[in-house]
Amino acid sequence: MPTLLGLEHTSLTEYHSVVTDAAPWLTAEHEEFRRALRALVARELAPHADAWEAAGLFPRELYGLMGKLGYLGLRYSPEYGGAGLDFRYTLILAQELVKCGSVGTAVGLLAHMEFALSVIDARGTPAQKREFLAPAIRGERIAAIGISEPGAGSDVGAIRTTARREGGDWVINGSKTFITNGTRADFVSLVARTGGPGPKGLSVILLPSDTRGFRVGKALQKMGSRASDTAELFFDDCRVPLGNLVGEEGRGFGYVMDHFKGERLVISAFALGVMERLWEEGTRYAAERQVFGQPLGKFQAWRHRLADVRTTMEATRQLVHWACDRLSRDAPDASLAASMAKLFSCEQVKHVANEVFQLHGGYGFIEESPVCRLYRDVSAFTIGAGTSEIMREIIARETQL
Ligand SMILES: Cc1cc2nc3c(=O)[nH]c(=O)nc-3n(C[C@H](O)[C@H](O)[C@H](O)COP(=O)(O)OP(=O)(O)OC[C@H]3O[C@@H](n4cnc5c(N)ncnc54)[C@H](O)[C@@H]3O)c2cc1C
Repeated sequence: MPTLLGLEHTSLTEYHSVVTDAAPWLTAEHEEFRRALRALVARELAPHADAWEAAGLFPRELYGLMGKLGYLGLRYSPEYGGAGLDFRYTLILAQELVKCGSVGTAVGLLAHMEFALSVIDARGTPAQKREFLAPAIRGERIAAIGISEPGAGSDVGAIRTTARREGGDWVINGSKTFITNGTRADFVSLVARTGGPGPKGLSVILLPSDTRGFRVGKALQKMGSRASDTAELFFDDCRVPLGNLVGEEGRGFGYVMDHFKGERLVISAFALGVMERLWEEGTRYAAERQVFGQPLGKFQAWRHRLADVRTTMEATRQLVHWACDRLSRDAPDASLAASMAKLFSCEQVKHVANEVFQLHGGYGFIEESPVCRLYRDVSAFTIGAGTSEIMREIIARETQL
């Protein structure tokens, strides 16, 4: 059994068995999928998680493996190599992958398969799906989503990267930042300005990274999620065919907002998965650690705080699955529900991380402790795919406050 500074630790599969799940939202098939996935995570990811985090990158071959096993196209059309499954499978994937010990690996894989590909699946032409979606589902081409810029994060309508028509091409100029998978993406689902100012001037264009004039800038050194690469990208008179426009010109902002619903649920599922991992770490430590002649978990102060953690975790689970249900039904409140799920889960996982960190005393501050890394990793959850403040703005607007 692995040890943490001399304290006994149970195995990955052991803690998985304790976690309950989401009746009535999931079927026996969903749970069977989860079981197979957990075995894969325990076998292929968990043993390498520390090394990938230390290296600042998980190996490119992992996309190939996940593609070969069918995980990268879970909800996409079988015509392009997908599995055509409902969105709950994607949430289960996100929830289980973060437990491998490297949140960054989960972020890199989901940024590829969900954040970058969903717009192509929803709006792309058959030719675009053959050229970009199908090889990405197989894990042969890596994808990134390019929205954020140095001067345009929350305010997507302020994007300054331009794409102008010239002959049969788009000519693209500008830059992006914070782009997950940016250092090694084979193509970028890029949001660029093809028209006038504001949201109505934006379009989505597919840009292969071997295009002349494309350059990867700095790989950004991050506080957490270190096994995923995050980069600045530069575009200097990059020419791509007019046929690389996804959907209609000038509709890019709407597509991005639509695609954010899924992305926000995926991050909510990350938060839920991390809560489950923290719960297991916390309850185990509370049982093992002796203070003043008895286990820490016998003290009412900690029994109550762990009771709060458990309650928060179960409330998060219900909210995330309810929001997923709204999305699956294409309900008018799907965006509201996804924003609520993201706001609650991502704020609460920070609180849970803090509780479990405090429970661990000095050991929680030591890199060897999984709690130490998770405490850092969750910091970005309230930022990426829309900050908590933006989630509150959406909730207030959709509630007509
Ligand atoms: C690890 C990581 C990975 C990422 N990956 C990608 C990626 O793959 N592709 C991509 O395009 N982007 C990516 N991002 C960028 C991410 O989407 C942005 O960081 C996010 O949208 C916030 O933008 P910003 O950082 O520019 O902050 P800003 O928009 O400048 O916000 C700064 C602060 O102001 C607040 N604020 C902004 N507007 C309002 C308002 N109206 N009311 C109240 N408060 C407000 C924000 O909530 C925040 O607290 C990633 C970010 C991180 C951290």
